[in-house]
Amino acid sequence: MRVPRRAAFALAVAFSALVLSRSLSSQPSALTVLSKDGRRSLATTVINEQEFVALDDLATMFQLAVREDALGMTVSYKGKTVVLTLDQALASVAGRLVSLPAAPVRGPAPGRRWLVPAEFINRALALVYDTKLDLRKPSRLVIVGDLRVPRVQMRYEAAGAGARLTIDATPRTGNVVAQDNEHITVKFDADVLDIPDPGLALPAPSSAQGVIQAVRQADATTIILDVGPRFGAFKASNLPIDNTARLVIDVTAAAPADAAAPPPPIAAGPPPDLTALIQTPASIRTIAIDPGHGGDDEGAKGAGGTKEKDLTLAVARRIKGAIEARLGIRVLLTRDDDRRVPIDERTAIANNSKSDVFISLHANASLRPALAGTAIYSAAFAQDAGDTARAALAPERVQAIGGNVRDIEFVPWDFAQAAHVGQSDTLARLLEAQFQNRVPLAKRPVESAPLRVLESANMPAVLIEMGYLTNPDQEKQLAGAEFQNTFVQAVLDAIIKFRDVLDERRGGNQGAGAR
Ligand SMILES: [Zn+2]
Repeated sequence: MRVPRRAAFALAVAFSALVLSRSLSSQPSALTVLSKDGRRSLATTVINEQEFVALDDLATMFQLAVREDALGMTVSYKGKTVVLTLDQALASVAGRLVSLPAAPVRGPAPGRRWLVPAEFINRALALVYDTKLDLRKPSRLVIVGDLRVPRVQMRYEAAGAGARLTIDATPRTGNVVAQDNEHITVKFDADVLDIPDPGLALPAPSSAQGVIQAVRQADATTIILDVGPRFGAFKASNLPIDNTARLVIDVTAAAPADAAAPPPPIAAGPPPDLTALIQTPASIRTIAIDPGHGGDDEGAKGAGGTKEKDLTLAVARRIKGAIEARLGIRVLLTRDDDRRVPIDERTAIANNSKSDVFISLHANASLRPALAGTAIYSAAFAQDAGDTARAALAPERVQAIGGNVRDIEFVPWDFAQAAHVGQSDTLARLLEAQFQNRVPLAKRPVESAPLRVLESANMPAVLIEMGYLTNPDQEKQLAGAEFQNTFVQAVLDAIIKFRDVLDERRGGNQGAGAR
């Protein structure tokens, strides 16, 4: 089945449509005019990188009278006038000259309306208007009257095992901080918050990952921190700095959790009308564990009767229990009973659940009973190690297929996994490091191979051959609780290390795709 490839194509189409609609909408943008009566939209037109607004829109919105003559326009409000002269980046306001960034221009057809630079609002109109007018271009706002619209700036830093969020509100604005199970809520004593250029200020520091999942604006005056599985406690302190009220929220991590209670599930994302300000999602939220084989596909079988399909399911369940209890990461099993699951369905389960890691569990078999040890495989692709890996591995595998125990198929290599090979290799190395000195390792513990079960996984993915069931000593070992516990602990530790690696990379890239 080629479903993953089609899905990737559909995704690419959807993405380019998104990019297209964004670039179209960036041209005719709008300012938001805020007043006691509510908010209205004021369309703008960009010409030569200067933003203009239509004079007749302003006339409607602010009850202005506009008279046009051969030399320009006269704009009147309650007996005071602003005179605009054609071809001049100037306005005469009640007899006083003020500069504008550009001269008035005719807009495009139809209409050919007169356009004035947006700065006309605060440099000219504000001087004749009887209510305060404040143009804040960076935040796309025109504030009419004495609304309390503090400018809010946020900074997020790692602080030991916790994090610190600093929120500066200018001019000084009071706030109330409250907490429920999943959020810390900061409500400002204001009419609207002015949050310029949000999103860029917050890296996702690795040590704080899991303490705070996201910081977002919930409504006009409320900022919400979504707490993560590692959240312990927080302390909020206010201190005034000149005209700014600074709120510092220090969040500490919980003490290393015992296995007693899994942390609460991560809150769902905000509804669409809530502007997500800063997303610092955990880099690993879901892990898919794939117990190899099942049903009439028994996989490898040891002389003592251990079946690969049973072993993989038992270990998968242990890994799920450990990770969910101790890391608060959701773990999906591609099967949780003794049934056959087609290979494509296994990766589809991982892809559809947007799993961040895919681990397929197997046990090995060989015609050489002496072979033993754990090996970790990542996908190989034609351009890199693929050909040599296939050449090196194929004979032994084919021989094994003759023995009716081999489960791995070789496939073409042009699938979703190609985008994740680097991270898959990293995960494989981290697993190897954790297995080292804990469980017996194969002669070549980390290898790349063209494995069908990994090819269409759209996330970092590895396959672990836990050991050889055809080695009688190792069969006993694999079936025992001691090995399984040690193995599971090593996987858990590798996942923690891998999460740290992802967090660090993510931290370095933060802001690249924001807004
Ligand atoms: Zn297998």
